Amino acid sequence: PLLKSIEMYNGVKIPQIGLGVFLMKDEEELVSAVKAAVESGYRHFDTAKIYGNEEYLARGLKESGVAREDIFLTSKVWNYDQGFEETKAAFEESLRKLDTDYLDLYLIHWPAPKYIETWKALMELYEEGKVRAIGVSNFQIHHLEELKKQELMQPMINQIETHPEFPQNELHEYMKENGIVHEAWGPIGQGKTGLLSNPVLVAIGKNYQKTPAQVILRWHVQRGEVIIPKSVHAERIRENSDIFDFSLTDEEMDLVASLETGTRYGSDPDDQERLK
Ligand code: NAD
Repeated sequence: PLLKSIEMYNGVKIPQIGLGVFLMKDEEELVSAVKAAVESGYRHFDTAKIYGNEEYLARGLKESGVAREDIFLTSKVWNYDQGFEETKAAFEESLRKLDTDYLDLYLIHWPAPKYIETWKALMELYEEGKVRAIGVSNFQIHHLEELKKQELMQPMINQIETHPEFPQNELHEYMKENGIVHEAWGPIGQGKTGLLSNPVLVAIGKNYQKTPAQVILRWHVQRGEVIIPKSVHAERIRENSDIFDFSLTDEEMDLVASLETGTRYGSDPDDQERLK
């Protein structure tokens, strides 16, 4: 596989690019996307219980014929399953649906009210060897600080909305200082931004015969982030992984950074009403 890995603080390596399968509700579509991804060299797949497609992903991986130990598999515990015992039960259900006896990474999907108890369950699953790495998603600095204050294990990774319009610079620096890997969701803006036709990105791409999507993904990679772009189309899946044969200059990195608007397109992690 062509794909580079990033080492988390416990020594486990995560491939820097994975296929995100959010909104892939159609079984045949998901299975063919997974096969196309494997053919392009992807070995990392990001799902969640709430996506409702863990069983389809298991089928796609099985049909792709890659050995389990060569796959990096992530799932996440949803808000209504949070709490110590509930999380452990949700984890077992994800294992069953994914037709495997361990996960490579298990994440708290959102910092819902019971996230501390949920984190204690993830720590126990990790200590029992049922998951190779544990982390969080959509955590702000204050959530990460709360885990520290309670002297709990530090998450190995935090998966957060990140793209040039919303680069998460403060959280990015905090995680760098604390040895927490930055994983970007919505890395190309989820189709909600104008980024894919942005003239700055088109112009940079022309220097390397790359598309705006590839320029954005390369920007993430050079910031040291893990990326999980989603596509169901074989050609785009391949395109999104074809970003390891060129580098953006410092000036081009700054140009991409200049597209920051501060607009968050996803939910606000501090909107507690939504997380109940
Ligand atoms: P994304 O930024 O990956 O954008 C996906 C969309 O971009 C696709 O639907 C497609 O329309 C388009 N696209 C993909 N490749 C393209 C290309 N090469 N050229 C042009 N258009 C292209 O957004 P996403 O799917 O929301 O995020 C990626 C993954 O992150 C998800 O699949 C999921 O696994 C994860 N995610 C996690 C959370 C969380 O709360 N933890 C939230 C959202 C997404």
